[in-house]
Amino acid sequence: MNLEAPLKSYVDAKTATMLADGLELHTVGDLLRHYPRRYAERGKLTDLRRLQAGEHVTVLGEVRRVDVRPMKDRRKRMLDVTITDGHATLLLRWFNQPWRTRDLVVGRQALFAGKVEEFKGTRSLKNPEYQLIGDDASDADAAAEFAGAMIPVYPSSEKVHTWLVARCVRLVLDTIGTLDDPLPHDLVARHTLLWLDDALRMIHRPESYDDVVAARRRLKWDEAFVLQVALAQRRREARRTPTPSRVRLPGGLTDAFDESLPFELTEGQQAIGRVVEEELAATHPMHRLLQGEVGSGKTVVALRAMLTVVDAGGQAALMAPTEVLAVQHARSIRDLLGPLGMAGELGGAEVATQVALLTGSMGAAARRNALASIADGSAGIVVGTHALLETGVVFRDLGLVVVDEQHRFGVEQRDVLRAKGGSAPHVLVMTATPIPRTVAMTVYGDLETSTLRELPRGRSPIRTAVVPAAEKPGWLDAAWGRVREQVAEGRQAFVVCPRIGEAESEEPTGDEPADPETRRPPLAVADVFPMLRDGPFAGLRVEMLHGRLPADAKDAVMRRFARGDIDVVVATTVIEVGVDVPNATVMIVMDADRFGISQLHQLRGRIGRGSAPGLCLLVTDMPAGTPARERLDAVAATADGFELARLDLAQRREGDVLGASQSGRRSSVRLLELLEDEDLIVEARAEATALVERDPELATAPALAAELARAVDEERAEYLEKA
Ligand code: ADP
Ligand code: MG
Repeated sequence: MNLEAPLKSYVDAKTATMLADGLELHTVGDLLRHYPRRYAERGKLTDLRRLQAGEHVTVLGEVRRVDVRPMKDRRKRMLDVTITDGHATLLLRWFNQPWRTRDLVVGRQALFAGKVEEFKGTRSLKNPEYQLIGDDASDADAAAEFAGAMIPVYPSSEKVHTWLVARCVRLVLDTIGTLDDPLPHDLVARHTLLWLDDALRMIHRPESYDDVVAARRRLKWDEAFVLQVALAQRRREARRTPTPSRVRLPGGLTDAFDESLPFELTEGQQAIGRVVEEELAATHPMHRLLQGEVGSGKTVVALRAMLTVVDAGGQAALMAPTEVLAVQHARSIRDLLGPLGMAGELGGAEVATQVALLTGSMGAAARRNALASIADGSAGIVVGTHALLETGVVFRDLGLVVVDEQHRFGVEQRDVLRAKGGSAPHVLVMTATPIPRTVAMTVYGDLETSTLRELPRGRSPIRTAVVPAAEKPGWLDAAWGRVREQVAEGRQAFVVCPRIGEAESEEPTGDEPADPETRRPPLAVADVFPMLRDGPFAGLRVEMLHGRLPADAKDAVMRRFARGDIDVVVATTVIEVGVDVPNATVMIVMDADRFGISQLHQLRGRIGRGSAPGLCLLVTDMPAGTPARERLDAVAATADGFELARLDLAQRREGDVLGASQSGRRSSVRLLELLEDEDLIVEARAEATALVERDPELATAPALAAELARAVDEERAEYLEKA
C-alpha cells in the first residue's frame, strides 16, 4: 500500500478539501502521520478548570442541565446547556437550534469543541460542535468510532474537528490493507519494534496506554532512522568526493602567522588545529563544525586553516550572516594578519596575501575590484555575506569555506560554492551557540564536531543579574548609574532593545512573539536612545546601531565604538554575534524576557572580552515566578552555554529546531524529541551508519529508499521555494 495515494480516493471530495485546507493533509501518509495530540478516556472527563479564555478546545464532558429560553425575538429560542467534569462547569449556548435537546439530555457524555469565551467570570462555548460518545451516539458510525476506551484527540482546526479526522483515519485504516515497512526486518527484530502497520493502527486506535507507548517508540524510530540514513549517505558521499589536498607548507603564511601571534594558542586551539590540518591535507572535503563560547578563539583557528589553504595555492572564503559582521571580520582578520595580509602594498610581508571584502551594499567600483581580485586569485582570503553566493562571484580556486554563526548554510549552498571554485571546498562552520549532542547528531549530523572548551587565559567572568523594573523601579536608575561609573573609568557599554521602532509594521527581533492584546509593544531603540541621551546619559557619547541604518553608517558607529570614541551604543541584536570590543564592560538588555535563552547568552558574550570583569543586567517587567522570569534567572545563574542550550531546546518545539536545519526534513519529524530521545537517536545513528556501509544504494531496503527519495524531493522543493 502506498502512503502517497491522495486522500481524495478514500474520502468524499468535500471532506478531502476540508482536510487539505484546514490541516494541510493531502495524502494517506499525511493523514496517518497526523497523530493524536492526546487521548480522552471514556468516563474520564476533561478538567474544565484548566480551560483558558480564547483557546480553541475539545473537551469531554457530561450534560448536567438543559434550559431552553425565549430570546428577544419571541419566535426564537436560546439553548443553554451546562456540562460538568464532576467539579467545575462550562456553559454551552446555542441560538435558535432547539432540536439539539434531542441529543443533549442530562447525563449524556460528549466531546464538545469551540472557542472559550469568558464573561463576568463565566466561561462558555458558543454554538459548539459536538460528538456524542458511546452507545448514546445517534448514528451507528459514530457509536463505533467512539466505542473504544481511548478516544484520540487530534490537532484540529476550527472547521475540521477531531472527530472528523478520527472518522477519516478509520476509513483509511479499514480499507488500505497492510503497509510496507521501510525499516529493515532484522532491525525491527533486534530492537523489538512494532511493524509500521501495527504501530499506525495502534497510535490511532489504542486499547491502552501501553499500545500508545509501543507505537510511539516505533514511529520515532522511523523518524530518527530515515534522517540518520540520509545523513550517513551524505557523509559517505563526502568521503567519495575528490578534492585537491591542501598540505601545510613549511615556511609559509601559517608558520609566519603563528610566529607573529602575541599569545600562545590554547591547548584546544592547537588540538583542533592539528585535526583540521590533517583534514585539509586529505583528498576529500572536510565538513566540520567548530563550536565554542564567544571569545574562545574560534576565529583564530579558522584563520590558521584559511592560511594553510592559501599556502597550498587555494583561496578561502569567510561567510558572515550580516554586513556588520562581515565588515568586522574583514577588519579583525586584517589586523591579526598585519603585514601578512598586505601583499602588493607598501609594508607587506615577503610571503603575504590579500583580504577582500564583498557585501551587497558595496559601491560599483569597490565591487569590481573585489570581484577581480577574487577571480584572479590575488585575494587569498575573501570575507563576505551571502553576496558571495551570487552568480557574478567566481573564484580562481576556492579551497575552504568558513561559515560564521550560520544555521542556514546547507548542502545546496555548498553546491553553489563548489560550482564557483572548480572543486569541492572544505567547509568549517563556526558557532558560539553550544549544541547539545543530539542536535549535533541531527541538525548538524553530516558535520564532524570540534569543541573549544577553555577560554584563553586572562578572560574575566561576567556577572549577570535580573533587574525587575516593575517591582523595583529604583534598580533601573542604579543600572544607569553603573553605566555612568564604568564610562567614568574609561569603559564602554551596550544597551540592547528588542525592536528598532519608528516603522510600524516591523516585527520584534526577539524570539518571543508579543501578545498584542495583553502586552505593550517591546521597547524600541528609536525610543530608548533619545530617552537615555537626554536623560540618564546626558553628557556621554551615545549612539544607536540597528539593521535599518545604511551600511556605511553602521560601519562608522562600529568603528568609532571600537576606537573608544563612543561611550554607549543603544542597539538591537545586530551586536549579537562577533562584535569584538574588549573595552566594553557593561550590557543592559531592555525587555530581556523578549529574547530567547541562547540569544541572551550570545548577547552577553559581547562584554567581558577584555581583562576587566563584565556586568550584564537583564531588565524585565515580568513578575517573579512567571516562566519568563525563570528563564532570565537561569541565564543569570549560569555561564555554562551547554546547560543553557539544553534549557533553550527544552522550550522550543523540535520542528522549529529541525526546521532551521541543514538537513531539511522539516515535515517528517513529529514525535522525536531531541532531549528525551537521545538513546534512540544514538542507536538509530549506529544502525543507519552500518546499513549504509553494508548497502550504500539501499538495494536491500526498497521501501526505505523510496521514503528517502521522497524526503529529498521535499527538501529540494523547499529549497527552491525559498531561493
Ligand atoms: P571567537 O571567534 O571564538 O569569538 P576569537 O577568535 O575572535 O573568538 O577570539 C577572541 C579574542 O581572543 C580575540 O581578540 C583573539 O585575538 C583573542 N585570542 C584568541 N585566542 C587567544 C589565545 N590563545 N590567547 C589569548 N587571546 C586569544
Ligand atoms: Mg568570533
